[in-house]
Amino acid sequence: MHTDVLVIGTGISGLTYAIKLAEEAPETNITLICKDKLEEGNTRYAQGGIAVVSNFKKDTFEKHIEDTYAAGDKAGDRGVIEFVIKEGNDRLQELIEWGTQFDRNNKKTLDLTKEGGHSEKRIVHYKDHSGAEIQRALIEKVKDFENIQYFENHILVDLITDHHTGSKNNRCYGAYIISTVDEEIIKITAKITVLSTGGVGQIYAFTTNPFGATGDGLGAAYRAKVKLEKLPFIQFHPTALFPKVEGETFLITEALRGEGALLKNLSGEQFMGKYHPLKELAPRDIVARSIIREMLSQQESNVHLDATGIDQTSLLSHFPTIVDTCRSIGIDPVTSSIPVVPAAHYSCGGIAVDEHSKTTLDGLFAIGECSHTGLHGANRLASNSLLESIVFSHRAALSSAQELNKISLTSTFYTSIPDWKGQHFSKDNEQEITLKLREQLKKIMSDQVGIFKTNKGLLAAQNTIKELYFEVVDLYNSNKLSPQICELRNMVSVAYVLVNQSLELTENKGVFYNHNYGKEAVL
Ligand SMILES: Cc1cc2nc3c(=O)[nH]c(=O)nc-3n(C[C@H](O)[C@H](O)[C@H](O)COP(=O)(O)OP(=O)(O)OC[C@H]3O[C@@H](n4cnc5c(N)ncnc54)[C@H](O)[C@@H]3O)c2cc1C
Repeated sequence: MHTDVLVIGTGISGLTYAIKLAEEAPETNITLICKDKLEEGNTRYAQGGIAVVSNFKKDTFEKHIEDTYAAGDKAGDRGVIEFVIKEGNDRLQELIEWGTQFDRNNKKTLDLTKEGGHSEKRIVHYKDHSGAEIQRALIEKVKDFENIQYFENHILVDLITDHHTGSKNNRCYGAYIISTVDEEIIKITAKITVLSTGGVGQIYAFTTNPFGATGDGLGAAYRAKVKLEKLPFIQFHPTALFPKVEGETFLITEALRGEGALLKNLSGEQFMGKYHPLKELAPRDIVARSIIREMLSQQESNVHLDATGIDQTSLLSHFPTIVDTCRSIGIDPVTSSIPVVPAAHYSCGGIAVDEHSKTTLDGLFAIGECSHTGLHGANRLASNSLLESIVFSHRAALSSAQELNKISLTSTFYTSIPDWKGQHFSKDNEQEITLKLREQLKKIMSDQVGIFKTNKGLLAAQNTIKELYFEVVDLYNSNKLSPQICELRNMVSVAYVLVNQSLELTENKGVFYNHNYGKEAVL
């Protein structure tokens, strides 16, 4: 199959990109694929919303720029931060024009909330399921375009590069894809390929990311020798519901703390004042580390988030999903505290891109959470990732529209690219061993490469993950290809690069904390 543009991933970034490109270059043939249903991915779970300067009476670009730079521990790229924040409101207006609903106040202007690290109220939201609303609207919009086709249950195996074609262009020519519908491995050639595959949270045991967030785009990019950067900067969300609900970790949004919810240890004492002057609204990395310190000092398995002080009507109307989920496991946030722990949440690093989302491989773009743009520095400011996705997807689409006109490869060239030469497909091959290795990897990452690291732990993790890597490659080479084996191969590659890059860091910044370089007291 041949297409002008192949987009791998249908979260906010892949869908925004496709809509924008379809509007910009209507003659372009765009193919979207996703590993599950169109709606599944990190986007649909986003609760808080999008950080955008839209109330120009109170807020300014400068304030948002400074908040972003400060939250990122001064490691962000100031040029990138500036254009993302200045372009944010135009992109937000487009989301609204495309049918996304956001909550409004009685004057019909956007209802803005505040989250940790923000100096002003600027979070645009839809109740406590902003991501699901954005995803709904974008899916409806994408279906309006005749030049966009999409395939659910199609999984990226590998990018097609010079390695497959024998040419020397440093170029990407599409991808090999598993269709779990037809149970075959297909070749999709494309002039431009876009990775929008989302996060990597599943490499940890406790994560807010859904089951499919296995870093597939990063794994494929790594095998294609594309540059990955800043992988050690994994943000842990301070407050995930404890324990898991039906095997899945459920996020308790930061907006609840923004509305006044308090963190308490199990003896009912507020503790954030001991760790940071901004208390509950300190940047996420500090809140997450403080919670772990408090849990360790009190020898407790979790802490509590007390939202009982929030006006009941406001709690029920702004946070219906949280209230319902907590009630489903017998906790009523109106009257009782919510048990919470930190969980792996967001990858600040990823595939290195320029200001138009171009990677180091020609013809390959990366957008959204799988990319590293420089916006977040060493720590992402709350609600800045949906913002990053809409701004960079727009830029990538404009840049792709220009680049498409310049690509002169012939159809004979694309047809000459070999079909997949590897293994056949199997839906449930070696499931047991794959699952066992997946659990093993998650445990190593959580135990030794979590919120607090040490050089000793990182070196031990490096050795074990290297062994695991060879075991997985062996499993991959000697078996039929299944989605599970593909995911595991990507997870172990991402973990390996993350640990190696962690060992290269000799200074603590933002979310990266190694006791060997620590300023905070050793536990
Ligand atoms: C619980 C939670 C709450 C959050 N809250 C907020 C918030 O309030 N504000 C904010 O700014 N950010 C928030 N975030 C972060 C934000 O939601 C994500 O960073 C963002 O949605 C990522 O969008 P994306 O388009 O890059 O990827 P995703 O939405 O994760 O989409 C990834 C897509 O890639 C596809 N895919 C993956 N691998 C493959 C493969 N091998 N083959 C084919 N397709 C593949 C998936 O099927 C999916 O379609 C939250 C994240 C979580 C998990």
